[in-house]
Amino acid sequence: MLEAAKRIADKKDWIKGATGDWEIIIGLEVHAQVTSKSKLFSGASAEYGGAPNDHVSMVDAAMPGMLPVINEFCVEQAVRTGLGLKAQINNYSVFDRKNYFYPDLPQGYQISQFKQPIVGEGVVTIDLDDGKSIPVRVERLHLEQDAGKSLHDQHPNMSFVDLNRSGCALMEIVSKPDMRSADEAKAYVTKLRQIMRYLGTCDGNMEQGSMRADVNVSVRAPGAPFGTRCEIKNVNSIRFMGQAIEYEARRQIGVIEDGGKIDQETRLYDAKKGETRSMRSKEEAHDYRYFPDPDLLPLKLDSARVAEIKASLPELPDEKKARFMSAYGLSAYDAAVLAAEPPSADFYETVAKGRDGKLSANWVINEFFGRLNKEGKTIETTPVSAAQIGGIVDLITAGTISGKIAKDVFEIVWTEGGSPAEIVETRGLVQVTDMGAIEKAVDEIIAANPDKVEAVKVKASMLGWFVGQVMKTTGGKANPQSVNDLLREKLGINQ
Ligand code: ADP
Ligand code: MG
Repeated sequence: MLEAAKRIADKKDWIKGATGDWEIIIGLEVHAQVTSKSKLFSGASAEYGGAPNDHVSMVDAAMPGMLPVINEFCVEQAVRTGLGLKAQINNYSVFDRKNYFYPDLPQGYQISQFKQPIVGEGVVTIDLDDGKSIPVRVERLHLEQDAGKSLHDQHPNMSFVDLNRSGCALMEIVSKPDMRSADEAKAYVTKLRQIMRYLGTCDGNMEQGSMRADVNVSVRAPGAPFGTRCEIKNVNSIRFMGQAIEYEARRQIGVIEDGGKIDQETRLYDAKKGETRSMRSKEEAHDYRYFPDPDLLPLKLDSARVAEIKASLPELPDEKKARFMSAYGLSAYDAAVLAAEPPSADFYETVAKGRDGKLSANWVINEFFGRLNKEGKTIETTPVSAAQIGGIVDLITAGTISGKIAKDVFEIVWTEGGSPAEIVETRGLVQVTDMGAIEKAVDEIIAANPDKVEAVKVKASMLGWFVGQVMKTTGGKANPQSVNDLLREKLGINQ
């Protein structure tokens, strides 16, 4: 794990400056809204949407004398997430008041955790495009309240406040500065979201603000000590985060190469302009005057309860991927695609159960997912079931239909429904294994193409052309292996 701290970026991720090469260092603070029915310290609904101020209790509106009561389910969700990040669970943690004024914060402080968070150090293994996996260390996870929302576009000369989000439970997950490129940061957020979706602790819906990131970026000469960082606040899309990192790194390199130095500051990413701009400098940074919230006792977790939660965790993405590779013989890539989300993983396993794992994976990924994508459908809205795809795989495995006919059957099942076996039976799609019929087709092709017959003797790869012709005249129903064998024999090709 120490290597994660000392790791130098791959050369392909270095940025060429005017004076030499540069490396990007990234650490992320991700805010993830806890999936729960009610808020962290009140019974009001935590549901997304609703008319403004529909989901607001006296506690969320900070009426005088109201007392927060901890939502045990939210605490368990944080523990579950911590366990999913292979992190230290702290049996003793403390809620603090983080004091600041803002119109969407009626309490005048946010209840958060500062020195003693509920979850300590953990790790997220991120998967990169080149098939490599690397660890990114998590420093901590703490629970805190979300704020409300100011609405500036509802009235010509007034701003309104919607407190629906006020008091909703957030998990702030802080990484160590272990990422070295925009792609690594994107892979980290993607993986974090995947883990939380598996756990059911955060829906990861970035458009609805369920997940947003503060992105800390600095640059250095490869392997040099860390430089001063800037923090880009509240980035709410993975794509924008990538763009913001690339822009910010180049901006910092420009400043340093021009003889300037980086001021530690908070910046905002303007997606329309594709640039970051300064929001406030370190000097203007708030002094939050943290102190333990006197309305709340320290949070004590029972080890037995934590062990129970641990035992109830579902199989997580990394483990599922590894099992798909070993149990079904899949490549790392295919296993990762199938394990991406629980519904797709379950769908695959229903198909693959008792069948050829690789053939099943090919069908699920290429034909099925391909078609879903093309038609903008999902596993929830698919017209084709796992049982139907399994039926097609069975027919291929039994040699009843060729791969080509199987695609036709899939088309019929997709548009008309029905059982693949029955479709093949009633529409006469059964593969021709009658050697007499195949031989006749082979002989005709050979007789009609003497020039090609000469050519294939010099260039054996021409055989594919013959196979294609025979398949064509038999309407794709000839058994490809038999066609191949017969052609080799008749054309005198041995290998
Ligand atoms: P603060 O409490 O002031 O926000 P932290 O040390 O908690 O500072 O760091 C906040 C985030 O900044 C963490 O995610 C961390 O990984 C990241 N970070 C710290 N130093 C650097 C750096 N030099 N470059 C990039 N990111 C950094
Ligand atoms: Mg911070």
